[in-house]
Amino acid sequence: MQQDIDIDYFLTTLEKEVADYNVPVVDLIKSQTRDPFKVLVATILSARTKDEVTAAACRRLFKRVDTPGDLAGLDIHEIEKLIYPVGFYRNKARYLAALPEALERFNGKVPDTVEELVKLPGVGRKTANLVVAVGFGKPAVCVDTHVHRIMNIWGYVNTRTPEQTEKVLRKKLPKKYWLTFNSILVAFGQGTCRPVSPHCDKCPLDDRCPKLGVKPRKKRKAMKNNGLIRMISWNVNGLRAATSKSFVETVLEIDADIVALQETRVKPEQLDDEVRNLDGYEAFFNSAEKKGYSGVAVYTRLKPLKVTSGIDGAPDPEGRVQTLEFEDFFLVNIYFPNAGRGLVRLDYKLEFDEKILEYAKKLAKEKSVVLCGDFNVAHKPIDLANPDSNENNAGFTPEERAWMDRFLEAGFVDTFRMFNQEGGHYTWWSYRFNARTRNVGWRIDYFCVDKKSKDRVKEASILDHVQGSDHCPVELVFKG
Ligand code: SF4
Repeated sequence: MQQDIDIDYFLTTLEKEVADYNVPVVDLIKSQTRDPFKVLVATILSARTKDEVTAAACRRLFKRVDTPGDLAGLDIHEIEKLIYPVGFYRNKARYLAALPEALERFNGKVPDTVEELVKLPGVGRKTANLVVAVGFGKPAVCVDTHVHRIMNIWGYVNTRTPEQTEKVLRKKLPKKYWLTFNSILVAFGQGTCRPVSPHCDKCPLDDRCPKLGVKPRKKRKAMKNNGLIRMISWNVNGLRAATSKSFVETVLEIDADIVALQETRVKPEQLDDEVRNLDGYEAFFNSAEKKGYSGVAVYTRLKPLKVTSGIDGAPDPEGRVQTLEFEDFFLVNIYFPNAGRGLVRLDYKLEFDEKILEYAKKLAKEKSVVLCGDFNVAHKPIDLANPDSNENNAGFTPEERAWMDRFLEAGFVDTFRMFNQEGGHYTWWSYRFNARTRNVGWRIDYFCVDKKSKDRVKEASILDHVQGSDHCPVELVFKG
């Protein structure tokens, strides 16, 4: 539905509002370099990448590259290394490697029209418009996801795609804003009118904005539901990948007090602000030293007294363990190693298992312990769809299962089995062979508590309807 908003009022108000916000990275590069070539490179790098990461990649790259000739002197692997971890860095390295030759058609200079710019590798209309507007200071209608989204929220356009928005704005948006509106709305979209839960409560347009399609921001409190604490544990199989599959929306929808994640495969600084600072939660990360590997994180609405990484504070280069100490319980978030194909890491895993058991026993002497995570073991034949064919495979070897027996005999409780004794309930499915649809899975994600705290467990379940990873979350409702 198109609405009649006062665009002059909206854009001039926001121009003042964003004056103190971080400048979008492409504008920053423009003001630092005044060089259309560098603006073009920064614009290519910035797609699907947060601004801090793009800015750091530009700093590294521009130390080596001042001109297209310098870029031609780098091989593709050097470019990849310099720009990592921007999104799609391999594709972008290919585009940059091909750029000097493509520019030769334009006498080695960056062209200043959209029609010419789109002939360059990795340059679509959005990038081209931005280079024309920012790099050359010529009026252009640059529509990225923030512009497209916000213009639709205001009802100034009623479109499905950024391309359609660009067409409408070309006819409708007064030319005096063409040079500036993209920077204003990008900064505003990153800071206040965020894609998930926009901060309407702090927005100067709150009274006048039609807020089309915007979900009102919930007021969230910890320790709701009569002192019950809802926790979820979820192996997200890469937090950045999960983010592209609606991780933020899913977690806000689940609305748990504590969210423990495994296999995050990311350092917090690589995350978009809305993921790193998930609305209403405090976040703690323990990332692996090796890039893109392992890693755990906890988002919590309850303030912990103390947070430590590793088993009993020991070095944890693979980023597998976090302990959050609360007033009357410990939460230990664990990503157990996988025994690996050919069981090459079975010994390593069993050693890890033993250390966890000793650590859990030590903590349980002090106060309640909740252990959660991807244990990477299915305990009994009912915990996987094909026990016979997996007898000696990683995750179902006799040695791993024997450890789980000893863990439970030592006084820890598999909370899901307090409420459900049936088979067919799984938490992980291979991406292959349509396994999730056919429910050919494994139950390898757990919430366990020490025996003395069993009465505090009010509910334990598997949220197998939740998509976004090859694992689904498991849930525990615990008396606070
Ligand atoms: S009131 Fe809310 S939806 Fe409207 S522009 Fe402001 S933050 Fe965005």
